Amino acid sequence: MIAALRKITTTAINLVFPPSCVHCGREGQLLCHICVSESTAVLQNVCRLCAEPLAKPGMCSRCVAERPWIDRLYGSFLYETLVASAIKALKFDDKRALGTILGGMFNTEVMDRSEADVIDPVPTDSSRLRSRGFNQPGLFARMLSNRMEVAFGGDVLVRVGQTIPQSKQPTAAAKHGALLGAFEVRASRVIAVVGKRILIVDDVFTTGSTVKGCAAALKAHGASWVGVAASAVQPIGSLIVMLLGIVRLDPELGNECPC
Ligand SMILES: [Zn+2]
Ligand SMILES: [Zn+2]
Repeated sequence: MIAALRKITTTAINLVFPPSCVHCGREGQLLCHICVSESTAVLQNVCRLCAEPLAKPGMCSRCVAERPWIDRLYGSFLYETLVASAIKALKFDDKRALGTILGGMFNTEVMDRSEADVIDPVPTDSSRLRSRGFNQPGLFARMLSNRMEVAFGGDVLVRVGQTIPQSKQPTAAAKHGALLGAFEVRASRVIAVVGKRILIVDDVFTTGSTVKGCAAALKAHGASWVGVAASAVQPIGSLIVMLLGIVRLDPELGNECPC
């Protein structure tokens, strides 16, 4: 009933105020087909755990040394200004229809080969869920679950013990450490994790701290494999370039999702 009312209201508003592209401003769609076609897909030759460009597919030396908890990263697009505009509008401007557009842009071809048993979103904290009314990784995870015909777990993970938002942590190391203990498997779902191949979904992957925290909790409870699907990825190399000021992204979004 609420969804139907929302749809009717949105249709009426769109008739009076036609939507315009959140990136280029063209009237007609929230993300126009020209901007979609100009989005940069993730290259083939990248590190399979962090999307850093390599001479050939494999693992970069940093991931070999770090041995992160995740087993595979599937990024669909590079986190450039265009995709950043869309994700920002979805998260902060309440353009929920963008969730369907961005969710439909996930490249599921390679993910199908992951043989995942279940798909789970990165959980958001309850206060953000209340203020925003939705969890964008949850929207994406449901869409991927339908498209890939893989079970939707939904509430397997829960945020715990993170009192300082990660965006306010003083250093990258503090942020990473805070996130490793920031997630736990919900007590009622522990059995559902043992031996399972789990694909967790987030909107943006930059340092990967958030999903590594999720993966650590899942592996600690016996998950046999944890993959990550992200709408957009920002390899560390490009992040360094951005931090040096050569490329400027919106500072609100230029790092790991704070939600
Ligand atoms: Zn556009
Ligand atoms: Zn790597």
